[in-house]
Amino acid sequence: MADNNSLIIGSVFMVMAMVVVAVMARKGRLGSRLHLAVMVIAVLLGFLIFAPVLPFHLMSLAVGGPQAPPAMAAVLIAAVLAIAFLMGRLYCAAACPVGAFQEILYLVPGKKWRYDDKRVLFAARAVILVAMLATALIWHQNPLTYLGVRSAFSLQLAWTTLIFVAILIIGILWYRPFCRVLCPYGTLMTICASKWILGLRRNSRCTSCRACEKACPTGESFSYSAGRDCYMCGRCTQRCKFTAIDYSNKEGRK
Ligand code: SF4
Ligand code: SF4
Repeated sequence: MADNNSLIIGSVFMVMAMVVVAVMARKGRLGSRLHLAVMVIAVLLGFLIFAPVLPFHLMSLAVGGPQAPPAMAAVLIAAVLAIAFLMGRLYCAAACPVGAFQEILYLVPGKKWRYDDKRVLFAARAVILVAMLATALIWHQNPLTYLGVRSAFSLQLAWTTLIFVAILIIGILWYRPFCRVLCPYGTLMTICASKWILGLRRNSRCTSCRACEKACPTGESFSYSAGRDCYMCGRCTQRCKFTAIDYSNKEGRK
């Protein structure tokens, strides 16, 4: 399928998925079966048309030249970053095939690793972002190719595919390793989402029982958290017995 057609189909799905996630967040239904269904479709689209894989398109834009996707990709990338600032990471929540794949794999039951030191993770991501941009701008190579993003979704038997599979396997144990360490777009999203206007916030019904804090795989449900690494998975809202977490724009969370 031509890149343009893939982008159009992927974009339509992406907009629909983000609207569905926003509505689910408002209704307190993040993490529901509908949420899972949207993620499954995202993964399937990743395999079928390799869209909407915006992290890869971002790096393709940085590479420039004939490999770069059309201007439409640039507009989409900028629009989704703006939405992250306004409404949180709706794209990461269900529309991104890479993120959705990891989210589904993390549902595999069993003991999980917890590591969420935000300063360490953000420093690592910043270094990786700079290295990836240098690779794209100076050597005109898309670094995500070497992490197997494209080859895995194309079902190619290549060494890069093994790298992506290894990342996915780690993702069964540790929440979203690609998103939280490697994704260049995710790092930009983290920066944009740090001041999100509409977000998951505790309301006055919160009893400080800390159930949400224990459920959150990224350590973002603390009352003082900025929410920039909130992937809107819904674990906190599902776990709260007091319906004390809203997707709202109210100032001064509890
Ligand atoms: S952080 Fe990157 S890979 Fe993960 S869901 Fe967001 S855009 Fe996709
Ligand atoms: S705060 Fe944590 S548990 Fe709640 S939706 Fe965000 S990432 Fe998931």
